[in-house]
Amino acid sequence: MPTPRKTLLVHGGCGRRPSTIPEGRDEALARAVAEGLRGKSAIDMVERAARFLEDNPLFNAGTGSVLTLEGHVEMDAAVMTSDLHAGAVGGITGVRHPISVARAVMEKTDHHLLVGEGATKFARHAGFPLYDPRTATRKKRWKELIAKLRAGGEAAEDRYWKRTRSWLERYLSPDERGHRSTIGAVACDAKGRLAVATSTGGIWLKLPGRVGDSPVLGGGTYACEQGAVSATGFGEGILRLGLAKYACDLMRTLPCQKALDRATAFARREGVEAGLIGVDKGGRPGSSKNAPWMPTARSVEGGPGRAPGLPLR
Ligand code: ASP
Repeated sequence: MPTPRKTLLVHGGCGRRPSTIPEGRDEALARAVAEGLRGKSAIDMVERAARFLEDNPLFNAGTGSVLTLEGHVEMDAAVMTSDLHAGAVGGITGVRHPISVARAVMEKTDHHLLVGEGATKFARHAGFPLYDPRTATRKKRWKELIAKLRAGGEAAEDRYWKRTRSWLERYLSPDERGHRSTIGAVACDAKGRLAVATSTGGIWLKLPGRVGDSPVLGGGTYACEQGAVSATGFGEGILRLGLAKYACDLMRTLPCQKALDRATAFARREGVEAGLIGVDKGGRPGSSKNAPWMPTARSVEGGPGRAPGLPLR
C-alpha cells in the first residue's frame, strides 16, 4: 500500500461571492493551513487549523460568530476521526474555542454531543475559561437587524417566527444572506489517520436553541475509514440529507473528488446549497460546491505545484 500523503484542507463557508472580499480573509485560510500543519496527528492538524480560524472575527465561528434573535452567540462544533471517535457541542456559549471543547467531549466523556447549558457547564469543568465571542461589529449589526424587525410591528414579528428564512431574506444585506463563513478542516496524517473539524455560529437571528448541521455527526461532519468530510451551507437541508456521511459512503467506490461532486449534485437536486471538503484514506483531497463560491486552502504532501496553504478559488 502506498504511504499516505499528509494532507490538510480548510474551508471558510459557502454561498454567493461577496461584492468585496474582506481584507485578509484568503490569507487567514492559508495561514490556518500552515498552523494546522504544525500538528502531527490528523486530529491535532484539524483542531489547530480550526482554532486559528475561530480566533479570526472575519469568520462565523468562535470570535465573530453571528448572533441569535436574542442577541447571544450560540456555537456549534464537532470533531471526528477515522476510527469513529467523535465529540461535538451544540448551542454552546461563553467559550473561545468550541472546537477544543468538542475534542474534550470526545476525549474526556462517555458522550458524543453536549448541548446548551450542559455543554457550557462541561466546558467550565473541563477548564475552558469564560469568554465572550461577540464582537462590536456583530453587536452593531444585530441592533440594526432587530430595529428593522421591530419596525415591521407585531404582525411582522409573528410572521418571523413562522418563516425565519423569508425574514432573513428581507433583513439581511445581499452579502450577509448570500455568504456564510462557517469554517471546517479535514486532514490525513503520515500514518493515514483521518480527522475532520467543523465550527460555526450558525445563522443570523436564528431562534435560540437552533442547532444546525455542523455538530451533527453524519450531517455536517463525518469521518470513517474511507474518508473525512466537512460541510457548509444550508444547515437544515444538509442535516436532512445526512450529507457528510453520504459523501464518505460514496468514497467506498469513488475517488474523493468524484464522491464529493456526486454528493453536492445530490444536494442541488434536493434544493440544498452545500459545499464540501474531504480527504480519503490515501490522503487524496477534494472540494466541491453547488454554491457559486467556497473559499478554501490546502496543502497536499507532494501535490502537484501547490505551495502549502495556497488559497484556491
Ligand atoms: N451550515 C451552517 C449552519 O447551518 C452554516 C454555514 O455553513 O455557514 O449552521
